[in-house]
Parts: sequence; structure tokens; C-alpha cells
Amino acid sequence: MIRTKGRACTGKRRHDTREDAEDHRQRLIAKGAVRIAAYQCRNRACRGWHVGHLPKPRT
Ligand SMILES: [Zn+2]
Repeated sequence: MIRTKGRACTGKRRHDTREDAEDHRQRLIAKGAVRIAAYQCRNRACRGWHVGHLPKPRT
């Protein structure tokens, strides 16, 4: 098994398109999730879209 540095996407739901990721995000929000976003994966082996928590904003 290959380990990746940083944010690995293993274990996360992968979406082929932004629309799919957004749809998933909306469902999570409907369940009560907050501050989550759909983002394109940086992993070259993945190149998919994931839904995850946003980093804490610096205020
Ligand atoms: Zn990924």
C-alpha cells in the first residue's frame, strides 16, 4: 500500500465530478455537517473530488 504525504484521500469518498461532490456535500449538510467543502484532489493518482472539512480560518 502506498502512503501519501499530507492529506491522503484514502478512506474518503471519491467523486468523478464537482457536481457529484457538491451533491454529496449537500447531503452531509442536510445531516448537520458544517463548514465542509468540495475540493479537487491534489493526488495525481486520484484526480477526483472529495468533500471534507475546511481548515480553520485565521482570524
Ligand atoms: Zn483523492
